[in-house]
Amino acid sequence: MHDHRKLGRELELFDTDPLIGAGLPYWLPDGAALRHTLEEYVRTAERQAGYRHVYSPVLGKRELYEISGHWSHYSDDMFPPMDLGGEQVVLRPSLCPHHAVIYRSRSHSYRELPLRMAELGGMYRSELSGVLGGLTRVRAIQLNDAHIFCTLDQVADEARGALDMIRQAYEALGIRPARLRLSLPGPGGKYVAAPEMWQRSTALLTEVLDASGLPYESAEGEAAFYGPKIDIQVADPAGRESTLSTVQVDFHQPERFDLHYIGADGAKHRPVMVHRSIIGSVERAVAHLVEQHGGAFPGWLSPTQVVILPVSDAELPDAEDLARRCTALGLRAEVSGRERGSLGARIREARLVPYQAVLGAAEAAGDRVALRLRDGRRIDPQPAGEALARIGALVAAHSTALWDEGDGHRPAQ
Ligand SMILES: [Zn+2]
Repeated sequence: MHDHRKLGRELELFDTDPLIGAGLPYWLPDGAALRHTLEEYVRTAERQAGYRHVYSPVLGKRELYEISGHWSHYSDDMFPPMDLGGEQVVLRPSLCPHHAVIYRSRSHSYRELPLRMAELGGMYRSELSGVLGGLTRVRAIQLNDAHIFCTLDQVADEARGALDMIRQAYEALGIRPARLRLSLPGPGGKYVAAPEMWQRSTALLTEVLDASGLPYESAEGEAAFYGPKIDIQVADPAGRESTLSTVQVDFHQPERFDLHYIGADGAKHRPVMVHRSIIGSVERAVAHLVEQHGGAFPGWLSPTQVVILPVSDAELPDAEDLARRCTALGLRAEVSGRERGSLGARIREARLVPYQAVLGAAEAAGDRVALRLRDGRRIDPQPAGEALARIGALVAAHSTALWDEGDGHRPAQ
């Protein structure tokens, strides 16, 4: 059983300080390396799937959220507004209103649709129970968010495309979802009152889920205030479920912001907004990855990918040279020298690092490395350049395998 709060501190990924405040974690260098890698994976996947990225500010005028509906349906979760020269500004509770305004700022033809707008951006939640030391109940959130502005006919394809990106990301990250949930509105005034709109969007998502062949359950009272959603649920080691990824259909905000596109008929039409997140918030995703892998992350994600272990001080210059070659190839490497103890102790210390390169006199002289993999396998000494190229290829492919099967290694002893 892994607790991400304890492990995150032990692995020096992130921490909190009472002086900064509960629910406001900071990231240490190893955590930042992991986070950059995760964020770059998401941005690359989005670029390849036809998304364009934007940046928008984490503050907005109160009026923006009155229009979006957050003010009347979601204000319990929002920070109180700040008075600024007669104006009220708030820390944003979501990115959607900014993206709707960005869409509206230019005119759009039907030929531009589906228009996919993505941002890994900050948002804030006035979490009263912000827990010190954790990443799951935080007040400052970095969200992997995107909004697809499209026609009604394009919604199902876009939702399917998003589910496909989620499946691929989970494969690369080694995440197994607990279940899929169709999240529907429940009783009470939390949801915008528009029965026909709810019916249409629920029918669309149900169609996508049924066609996917994946099992799912419906749950009332779990929808966004503006529309139903497909939620991908993950479970922590104690079995507690939370939502990591989501795909939502929204007819409400396009209406509220009076969004339109010019159709083939030359007339104005209303687009639909599909909200989707592949990994959810960076905080929750990393908390889950830490707990799921116990710190033994897939190689491409590991804060340190290669640790180089010179047997004696004589191999130190060659070890440092090898580390520089790793860096030049885009790998994260470090040298663990004699000052950190015996070879055995250094190997134990680096047990979560996917690749351990032991460098003795023979290897240093022949520009070879003897690799030990994190799972205990040993690879026969081989030319350093070849070994690094192979690691580089596995990392570039976002593989969860540490080595290609079939050659060059002996079973763990
Ligand atoms: Zn949104």
